[in-house]
Amino acid sequence: MPDAEYDRNNIFARILRNEIPSTRVYEDDEFVAFRDIAPAAPVHLIVIPRGEPPTSPAGLTEADAGMVGRLVLTAVRVAAEQGLSERGYRLVMNCGDHGGQSVAHLHLHVLGGGPLGPVA
Ligand code: AMP
Repeated sequence: MPDAEYDRNNIFARILRNEIPSTRVYEDDEFVAFRDIAPAAPVHLIVIPRGEPPTSPAGLTEADAGMVGRLVLTAVRVAAEQGLSERGYRLVMNCGDHGGQSVAHLHLHVLGGGPLGPVA
């Protein structure tokens, strides 16, 4: 189920607790951004909320609207800091197995650093 109950031992929860190493490029009180371990583009970052957010976009409610807006703004800020603004980049949020989601902690991919080709 894309909106399954939160598993406190998912990979991103463990990254937040520093139980698994990651290369962080940005963090504040609400979000952390780090390099994807299996980059699908020359620059591939993951931006996640701290705490126990919905496991996927399917679990979002109206109460999450502000958080999701700030998540996108944070991704845009991090993309700019990584030098991606001039040529552009792609923001991706996968949902469920058909969407290619493998980690059940809401997250936004930032992909760039070269031409990405069509989405599908
Ligand atoms: P998704 O497939 O949308 O759930 O995205 C999960 C992403 O997390 C994938 O692109 C993985 O390569 C990435 N990932 C998995 N484990 C790690 C890790 N330990 N550090 C950084 N990225 C990871």
